[in-house]
Amino acid sequence: MINAPSYIGRFAPSPTGPLHFGSLVCAVGSYLDAVAHGGHWLVRMEDLDPPREMPGAAERILHALDTHGLHSHTPVAWQSRRQQLYADALDQLAEADLIYPCQCTRDQIRKAGGHRRSDCQQNTEGNSALRFCCEGAIESFEDIWQGSQRQDIREDPILKRRDGLFAYQLAVVVDDIAQGVTHVVRGADLLDCTGVQMQLFRALGATPPQFGHLPLVMNEGGQKLSKQNHATPLDDQHPSENLVQALGFLGFHCPQSLHTESPHGILSWASARWQRHQVDLRNRLLSK
Ligand SMILES: [Zn+2]
Repeated sequence: MINAPSYIGRFAPSPTGPLHFGSLVCAVGSYLDAVAHGGHWLVRMEDLDPPREMPGAAERILHALDTHGLHSHTPVAWQSRRQQLYADALDQLAEADLIYPCQCTRDQIRKAGGHRRSDCQQNTEGNSALRFCCEGAIESFEDIWQGSQRQDIREDPILKRRDGLFAYQLAVVVDDIAQGVTHVVRGADLLDCTGVQMQLFRALGATPPQFGHLPLVMNEGGQKLSKQNHATPLDDQHPSENLVQALGFLGFHCPQSLHTESPHGILSWASARWQRHQVDLRNRLLSK
């Protein structure tokens, strides 16, 4: 590639429900970090798990991003259309003897220390999951916001499920490699799966990107805002207000005049002033 940007970031929602304030904070944080570093920002739709998807959610998410001025530098990638890439990656791992079929229950694999049991490979009647062989690996890395991390991989992760669907961990890494992603900025709820993903990057012959995990927006009950606990969908009628509120959460002191700016104007103002160290790391409520 000629003139490939030295920073490629991404926002990768799954269409299990509409965007809420927590997802907007991640989208804005990843966007600003990319743009402030002269990078590209991509949107990828993680529509890999049809049973969990909500009809129309993907279109609603893309519409909300658009309304908020958050435009992908390249056409949106849809995981449902990239299945061949995931199958090829599994072939590559199989050739290196890094995956194995497994029908163990979670309980069985945990009792066996989280890794391959002697009867995993013998017992291949019916549908098996495919697990990635980590064998007690430890990953140490420096997170942009969360600092030094050391993660013990206690359980070989499933890369292909018994129902035949590719697992999140596989697809996300394969896509980040294929799209040349250099920086993954996302919510702190995904910090724990970073070590596994780094192992998978290396197993596929790639250098892991730099990771940065942003604080989470919480609800009054002390849980993170999520589709599962029915967070209020973003109101597309008021994108400027929403953006100013998300910027406040990310540590900006927004002048009053910003409230009446267009989404594009607000994002330009913020990307010129983005400082990683201004982000308050506490998970907390969104203040009005
Ligand atoms: Zn097994």
